[in-house]
Amino acid sequence: MTENSDQRVAFVTGASRGIGRAISERLAADGRHVVLASRSEAPLNDLKATIEANGGSASVCVVDVGDGESLAGAVETVAKERGRFDILVNNAGITRDNLILRMDDEAFDEVIRVNLRSAFVACRAAARPMMKGKFGRVVNIASTSGLVGNAGQANYAASKAGLVGLTRTLARELGSKGVTANVVAPGFIETDMTKDLPEAVLEGAKATISVKRLGRAEDIAAAVSYVTSDDAGFLTGQVITVDGGMTMA
Ligand code: NAP
Repeated sequence: MTENSDQRVAFVTGASRGIGRAISERLAADGRHVVLASRSEAPLNDLKATIEANGGSASVCVVDVGDGESLAGAVETVAKERGRFDILVNNAGITRDNLILRMDDEAFDEVIRVNLRSAFVACRAAARPMMKGKFGRVVNIASTSGLVGNAGQANYAASKAGLVGLTRTLARELGSKGVTANVVAPGFIETDMTKDLPEAVLEGAKATISVKRLGRAEDIAAAVSYVTSDDAGFLTGQVITVDGGMTMA
């Protein structure tokens, strides 16, 4: 395991599987110390072991991002213990799909709390240590649903569109402090989130994707890798859509 105080520290939510796991592995391969955050400890320990076996550095943070106090506390603890906080990837997300006539308030509020409010809380907690370090890279993982809408996803699409406004505001507020903020908006990616979609839906999606395949978690991780690099200091307030040419919005 390689650890040193010059190493940039990245905090990735929803690291236990899917896109968050791929982002964590990629950022570790980029030389970051990656704090792996989600609710379930066992897959995080497994990922930490994998990263370390590959010569990287990681630590585990068990947190429910829907609990704002715990999430803010986790960010503050990492900044205090490691003496820096460079990269924040708000990736944890859920769906509670239903057509709007059948969607209850609870399903709306829960998705907003886990997908959007959590990102606000984490950004607010990370802003101070990033400004202190005169460097920061915030990446909020949204979705093409938030850009063009999607039937059955009023709550999810609203949460993801909200991330765009949050990100652009952060970019304006913190740009002069060396902190950038961007959105990466995936299209259809093969993960647990999409594995139960009916075959007809997936085939229908594939027909609209220019590169004629579903995305892989690694496709999203590659975009996050660039956006969080030192080279990307002039890239801020942007929505980078990684969808195989599905929307081109
Ligand atoms: P996934 O396979 O369902 O994984 C979701 C991750 O979020 C898990 O690590 C889960 O960990 C974590 N999570 C969920 N609720 C949490 C909570 N309350 N507190 C902490 N962690 C929580 O999803 P995915 O496909 O990788 O999606 C990752 C992100 O990409 C999401 O924001 C999603 O909206 C977005 N996205 C995905 C697609 C796609 O096609 N897959 C498309 C567009 C956007 P635990 O259960 O262990 O807590």
